[in-house]
Amino acid sequence: MGRTRILPSGVPIKVDVMSSDSLAAAQTTRVPTTEELGFDPDRLREKYRFERDRRLRADGNEQYQEVVGDFARYLDDPYSGPVKPRAALHDEVDVLIVGGGFGGLICGARLRQIGIERIRIIEEAGDVGGTWYWNRYPGAACDTEAYIYLPLCEELGYVPRTKYAFAPEILEHAGRIARHFDLHTGACFHTHVTGLRWDDVSMRWHITTNRGDDMRARFVIMSNGPLNRPKLPGIPGIREYKGHTFHTSRWDYDYTGGSSEGGLHKLADKRVGIIGTGATAVQCVPHLGAGAKELYVFQRTPSSVDVRDNRKTDPAWAASLEPGWQRERMENFNTLTSGGVVEKDLIQDGWTEIIRNLVSMAKFRGTGVDWADVPKLMEIADFQKMNQIRARVDAVVKDKATADALKPWYRQFCKRPCFHDDYLPTFNRPNVHLIDTAGLGIDRITATGVVANGIEYPIDCIVFATGFEVGTAWTRRAGYDVQGRDRQKLGDKWADGIRTLHGYMTHGFPNLFIVGNSQSAGTTNFPHAMDESARHFQYLIQKCLQEDIRCIEPDKDAEDAWVEHIISISRFNEAFLSDCTPGYYNNEGKPNRRSIQNGAYGKGPNPFFRITKAWREAEEMEGMVRR
Ligand code: NDP
Repeated sequence: MGRTRILPSGVPIKVDVMSSDSLAAAQTTRVPTTEELGFDPDRLREKYRFERDRRLRADGNEQYQEVVGDFARYLDDPYSGPVKPRAALHDEVDVLIVGGGFGGLICGARLRQIGIERIRIIEEAGDVGGTWYWNRYPGAACDTEAYIYLPLCEELGYVPRTKYAFAPEILEHAGRIARHFDLHTGACFHTHVTGLRWDDVSMRWHITTNRGDDMRARFVIMSNGPLNRPKLPGIPGIREYKGHTFHTSRWDYDYTGGSSEGGLHKLADKRVGIIGTGATAVQCVPHLGAGAKELYVFQRTPSSVDVRDNRKTDPAWAASLEPGWQRERMENFNTLTSGGVVEKDLIQDGWTEIIRNLVSMAKFRGTGVDWADVPKLMEIADFQKMNQIRARVDAVVKDKATADALKPWYRQFCKRPCFHDDYLPTFNRPNVHLIDTAGLGIDRITATGVVANGIEYPIDCIVFATGFEVGTAWTRRAGYDVQGRDRQKLGDKWADGIRTLHGYMTHGFPNLFIVGNSQSAGTTNFPHAMDESARHFQYLIQKCLQEDIRCIEPDKDAEDAWVEHIISISRFNEAFLSDCTPGYYNNEGKPNRRSIQNGAYGKGPNPFFRITKAWREAEEMEGMVRR
């Protein structure tokens, strides 16, 4: 079944992504006994609860601080040189897109395809790319297979270089889309939207920015990105530190040397501390370990780190691709991730394995299993998968105490699953020190170092791998508020949770479209969902143009019904989330109706796409008010 691969670090690993399939298959008909399993589910459940409980904090999401005031420097753009002066704009465009990441680019591309000429992207960064513009840390790569992740590959005649693309190739691809669809023309970079205001007389949006612009647009698409605001922990003493610091999403290569590919040679005489061990840290720790004199990895909760097994694209395979290949592959992935059955898993990786085995109930259909046993069987499959993850730590990390501390004790989807082949071996380096804080986090920061477990570690540079704001007010993350019809503010309307129809439009805010994953498709392949939203907006905007509709917005009843539907079908319901270790998936251990309401469509991406496709095909614009 499996094959063995030798990692660059010399450690042999078993590459067998299907291994828990066979385990699960054997158990689809009844709940196995403890003897058959070889472990005790009750004890594991107890261990998970213990680990969760010691991480629960009264301040929940409030433990983090906003990157403003003194901390605003963490938002500076280190990549594009000084901001170029330009005159303020007071003109009008047809479609204004806030955000030049993949969401904005795909929308721009789909609108170009229907002949829209006056499109303007407004972007805080110095160029397009969104998250891939900002996240250039060493080792940055996408965990979702590149053949399905990189948008519009077929339209652009591009096949990614490796199964999982590294950040530079992804950023390059963003530029390729912008050039192909002429989206740089008219774009405003290093520009921050400060407000959107709807004028119901002219039926236009007014957009103001930090560059003195006051533009108008008939339609606005907001594609701010879900993880766009770096966050810092509210650790005592963080302001007192005198050494060097930066956040992973603004990597300071002037200080570290090297590039996204590694080679951080300027750290050779530095003691570096990295705070956080999420998906970002998992990718950059191997490079910090290789470059720094000493590396201290401050861990609160370990990530689950499964096999990556990246490989170069086979040119013969690339040449054999038939028209429609990318769409077919994307749909194959989403069918699997929606719990559907496919003839062949085209992706065959860690994502499709865990989603099929741990999330999808499809495999139980027709097996004769008692439906009441399904949650237990799914929990067992989860225990088995996590046992495998923990066994991998033991197989790779030589020091037993370090290995034990690196083991995650929670259900797989409580936190973002990670895939990497060099992260765990990095802890075998003599210069790399795991400082595990037993779930409590670091105590404080002093002028010269980091204190954890009561011990001060002198540090020359702190790297904050502490993630991005989730669960704070939408307008705070966007950095602007939106004033709709009747002077209503979006911040007020969404104070108790997002309200939309299909996640795409919101009542009282005409001609305003939203790219995001709240109340719409939730898939690990974000660009697929973005493309589906872009097609929806393309349809709506074309309808407005063809039928001389001046503005559209969802009807309040249709919106209310959609919000209730989202809550009622939420897959990761409150009970599941409450049992999870804290993190941004469960509002830092405090899941509530708001976090569930702001979640994705619970039946999976494909059923959602079917709904919106059928909605368009009905040609009735059901639930929309037209004027
Ligand atoms: P995360 O929010 O996932 O991780 C933040 C880390 O900081 C956690 O380990 C957290 O610990 C830790 N932390 C926070 N406060 C403290 C504290 N006081 N003391 C010690 N540790 C602390 O951020 P990431 O940037 O790693 O990832 C964000 C998201 O970006 C991912 O979930 C993923 O969606 C995306 N991403 C995607 C990639 C891809 O392949 N496509 C690659 C990288 C990121 P704790 O867990 O205990 O809260």
